[in-house]
Amino acid sequence: TITRAFNFNAGPSALPLEVLEKAQQELINYNNAGMSIMEMSHRSKDYDEVHNEAIARLKALYAIPDNYEVLFLQGGASLQFTMVPMNFLKEGQRASYVLTGSWSEKALKEALLFGKTAEAASSKENKYRNIPTLNEIQFDQTDAYVHITSNNTIYGTQWKEFPHTGEVPLVADMSSDILSKPVDISKFGLIYAGAQKNLGPSGVTVVIIRKDLLEKANKNIPTMLKYTTHADSNSLYNTPPTFGIYMLGEVLKWVEAQGGLEGIEKNNEAKAKLIYDVIDQSNGFYKGHAELSSRSLMNITFRVADEELEKQFLVEAKEAGFVGLNGHRSVGGCRASTYNAVPVEACQALTNFMIEFQKKHQ
Ligand code: PMP
Repeated sequence: TITRAFNFNAGPSALPLEVLEKAQQELINYNNAGMSIMEMSHRSKDYDEVHNEAIARLKALYAIPDNYEVLFLQGGASLQFTMVPMNFLKEGQRASYVLTGSWSEKALKEALLFGKTAEAASSKENKYRNIPTLNEIQFDQTDAYVHITSNNTIYGTQWKEFPHTGEVPLVADMSSDILSKPVDISKFGLIYAGAQKNLGPSGVTVVIIRKDLLEKANKNIPTMLKYTTHADSNSLYNTPPTFGIYMLGEVLKWVEAQGGLEGIEKNNEAKAKLIYDVIDQSNGFYKGHAELSSRSLMNITFRVADEELEKQFLVEAKEAGFVGLNGHRSVGGCRASTYNAVPVEACQALTNFMIEFQKKHQ
C-alpha cells in the first residue's frame, strides 16, 4: 500500500493518485516510443496527439463555444496579470478591476503600467471576507475590460454568480477554481489559470480567449507576449511545457471519469460541507474567515478562536499527517484547500481531527 499524506496544500497541490500512477507507468516508455513524453520532440506525432487531445478535452468538458481558443502558455497566472493589459488596454483607455484579495491587487498593479484603471468594487474594507454583490460593481461601457478573480485562494472567497458586462469583455483569473464546477464560458472574454491547483503540475498556464479579442489586441508588443502569436501556432510557437500538458490531459480524463464538471462540483460541495459544518457547529471554537454567502469550495479559511490553541492546532495537525493547513503567510490562521483531487476521505479525516481537537482543548 502507498502512503499518501492528507494533502491540503494551496498550490502546488494534490494530484489524483490514478493520474500519478499512469504517469509513473508511462514515464520510461510512452506508447512504445522508448522514451517518456518529456524526452521527445514537441513536433512529434505522439506529442502532437497529447497536445491536441488536451485542448479537445478541455473544450468538451466546458462546452467551450467555437469562437474561443484554448492556449497553453507559461509564466503562470502572474504573467497573465501583465499580458491582459499589455494586449487589451490601449492608450487612453481604462480597465476596471474588482478587488477581492491580494491576487486581484497584483493584477491591478500590472495594469497601472499600461493605462488607466478603476476599482469596479472592492471588499478590502471588510478584510476581503466577501465578494461584492453584482449591483455594487461599477464600470463604463467604454472600459477595455472588467477583471475579476473567481476564487480568492488566500481569503477563501468565491464568486457564485458572475457579473453581466454586456459588450465589455469580462476577464477572470480562475487559477484556484478552474475545472471545479460548470461555468458558462460565453460570459467571458478571457479566462486564465495557472495549472498547479486543479489542472496539473505547475508550468503550464491555460488561457481561454474569445477570438474577436485576438483581432483587437495591441500589435506593437513583444512576440512572446502576444496572444495572437500563440493562437496562430496552436500554442506551439516555441517549446511548450510538454510534461505539464501531458499531465493536464490525464487530469482532464480523470475529471471526465468523475462525471465531468457536474460530478466534480457535487464532490467538491460535499467535501467543503464536511469542514464548514464542523466550523459552524463548534460554538465559536473555530471561526470561518469568509462571509457565508461568499465561502469558497476550494479554500476553507478559518481561525481557532484562541491564538495559542491555534498554534497548537497546526502543530498537532502536522503530527497527525495533515499537510498544508497553515494560512497564507500574509494572513496567518488556517486554510484547508480542498481542490478536485483531494479525496473526501482526507476531508473526513480532517473533520474528525478538528472535532477531537476541540473536545480535548475547550
Ligand atoms: N491568482 C490566483 C487566484 C492564485 O491563487 C495564484 C497563485 N496562488 C496566482 C494568481 C499566481 O499564480 P502563479 O504562481 O501561477 O503566477
